[in-house]
Amino acid sequence: MQRRNFLKTSASAALLAGTLPACVTPPAGEEEKIIAHQGRIKDYKKFSVIDPGLKITRIETWSQPNVAVVRVTTDNGMEGWGQISTYDADISAMVLHRKIANLVLGYDPAEIDELVDRCVERNLKYPWSYVCRALGGVETAIWDLYGKIKQQPVCELLGGEAKPVPIYGSSMSRAITPEDEVDRFTRLRDEMGINSFKFRVGKEASRNGDAWPGRTEEMIKGVGSTLADSCTLLVDANSSYTPDRAIEVGEMLQDYGISQYEEPCPYWEIEWTAEVTRALDLKVSGGEQDNDLSQWRRIVSIPSVDIIQPDPLYLGGVVRTVRAAQMAAQKEIPCVPHSANLCMVTVFAMHIMRAIPNAGPYLEYTIEFDDGINEVARELYSPNLKIVDGQLDMPSAPGWGVEFSKEWLDKADYEVSVSET
Ligand SMILES: [Mg+2]
Repeated sequence: MQRRNFLKTSASAALLAGTLPACVTPPAGEEEKIIAHQGRIKDYKKFSVIDPGLKITRIETWSQPNVAVVRVTTDNGMEGWGQISTYDADISAMVLHRKIANLVLGYDPAEIDELVDRCVERNLKYPWSYVCRALGGVETAIWDLYGKIKQQPVCELLGGEAKPVPIYGSSMSRAITPEDEVDRFTRLRDEMGINSFKFRVGKEASRNGDAWPGRTEEMIKGVGSTLADSCTLLVDANSSYTPDRAIEVGEMLQDYGISQYEEPCPYWEIEWTAEVTRALDLKVSGGEQDNDLSQWRRIVSIPSVDIIQPDPLYLGGVVRTVRAAQMAAQKEIPCVPHSANLCMVTVFAMHIMRAIPNAGPYLEYTIEFDDGINEVARELYSPNLKIVDGQLDMPSAPGWGVEFSKEWLDKADYEVSVSET
């Protein structure tokens, strides 16, 4: 399917779409209030990577149901490639063309802070999930464009260095028994040099449920007593528990040598999570779903968790993820960008990890290699990420350092929005 949308980008069209004309500046004395918007820390410095003067003239998407790729093109013919957040990505691609494209086309890609804020704030009636998923596709394409213009990898543009990133192997399965989980962790430890692993407890958003009665206790006992001496162990409860049950499980985790406890309570109940964090000695982490930078300010200021895990694509791209990381850094809270599949979110997360000063010790790396979405990832871009001695080898070519596959793009639904000017 091919669709083509034309968008006027004249001042009148921008006003109709609800965007502010570029000449509007804050009244004297109002700067402080403006600076605090959308997760800006005090003394926030806007990103200024390329010289101003270009215009974005074309946004293209290639969508399959769970993955969608974005290309932005400027008036001088330069281009950058990004990816919309995985799962129902075709819906996000539609949102991109309907709700985001008119706020990006005709604008200068150099002004990325204004661009991402405009896309969020002009969509105030649609908070924020699909808006941010779609924005993440455009925003990551703009960072790739920057990389192509400056001939540098994104992590260097962000002030970091392109070098390998340590990982932990992340199990996504609640169907697996403790014996089988121990077997595959042991194999990956011995074959790939991975020595940190995360397994699942509870049952996703289940009001204290479990995959089967007693599984959580079996897993903690089985994996902890076998591997805690040779590996760092983490668990993820995916919003399973009320605070009393979360603390009970957390005490057992501590007894069996597990060192990190992710998303014990429904993630929207940040005070419940804070209660668990205060009650336990191990590190509590969370935030992958949180896509509102004001909520991030609350999470960090309580603080609700010991480690934050913003997802670069659920949150709307690099700029907004770095802002969450900066808020956490002010409280000396580490940040590990969330990357639960092998599509581009893992590439984006590793570039951010290598650039933020408060990066945690290791990045999430799924070990569900045969999962459908990870099979897509193998075909989607090259070079595929390599693990060497338990670390992900970072591609160091300009931008994100990867090329999307023509074969994959040819099988996808294509849509384009262009400016008429
Ligand atoms: Mg998680």
